[in-house]
Amino acid sequence: MKCKVCKGHAVVDVRRHNAGFCKDHFVEHVRKQVAKSVKEFSMFSPDERLLLAVSGGKDSLALWDILLDLGYDATGFYLDLGIGGYSGRSKEASIAFAEQRGAKLIVRSLGEEHGYTVPELARLTGRVPCSGCGLNKRYEFNRAALEEGFDVLVTGHNLDDEVATLFGNVLHWNTDQLGRQAPVLEERVLGDSPEPVLVRKVKPLVRLAERETAAYALLRGIDYIVEECPMVEGNTQHRYKEAISLLEEASPGTKHQMYFGFLEKAAARFAGSGDGAQIVRCTSCGAPTLDLGQEEPRCSFCKTKALALTRKEQGSAKEC
Ligand code: SF4
Ligand code: ZN
Ligand code: ZN
Repeated sequence: MKCKVCKGHAVVDVRRHNAGFCKDHFVEHVRKQVAKSVKEFSMFSPDERLLLAVSGGKDSLALWDILLDLGYDATGFYLDLGIGGYSGRSKEASIAFAEQRGAKLIVRSLGEEHGYTVPELARLTGRVPCSGCGLNKRYEFNRAALEEGFDVLVTGHNLDDEVATLFGNVLHWNTDQLGRQAPVLEERVLGDSPEPVLVRKVKPLVRLAERETAAYALLRGIDYIVEECPMVEGNTQHRYKEAISLLEEASPGTKHQMYFGFLEKAAARFAGSGDGAQIVRCTSCGAPTLDLGQEEPRCSFCKTKALALTRKEQGSAKEC
């Protein structure tokens, strides 16, 4: 196969575009796809400070590389989830990349910040690991962005991630989530305070499939962590991805059609689906939470943390 641009030897074949690319033109193609998303969805401007959630994997490190090359002020944020050797290795990959690119990386750990790891949280609360992990990541990413004065929180969700989420939301007719599924979630303020309680969140990789970010990282010599999180087994999103990949294999372009078709033709119908309940501040931490009529409303993060730490304390008391 020949490169679509220079007719030289193609090293990557992007079937849904029916095009092959040589190394240089594939790298250029990927950067253009990111730049196009940033512009099309008005994600951020060059003078804004970006905080990028990095996991040491291909998507987040590839995105960091692209944003730096496009000239954006992008700082990395690594949250140590305490998942054994996996977390250690993913942290090392993130630190090594930051050093190599001379980029700033903020590192925090769940254990130090809150007193538990993701495996402990799962054991203490009886919830599946990915559920507690997701809740903690969302909370900590937002908290770090607000505390450190960033304008935007950037995540490395790619087209496969978004299609799998969309698929799950449709399977369960989760209309609230469908109303919030967008490449940009605007910041949110509460009451008279001009300070946001939720920072703007953006996903610049939505035009790129997982296979493409992996190829980009490989061609750019990015030393990312290849192993998957050992807790991914049983993750439903993972199973949806496998199912959708079969459809993509049979009919290239399916993922793109499903996601961008949703954004163009259906997303607006679900907008505001979850806006019925009032948003108030959590009385423990100040984060926004739904007003469910409690006297002292507390957010899901604070409730989960309190449950985990109480059970942890009870466990240590029994051992004594
Ligand atoms: Fe967290 Fe689950 Fe992802 Fe592992 S697979 S990092 S537990 S969300
Ligand atoms: Zn070429
Ligand atoms: Zn709270």
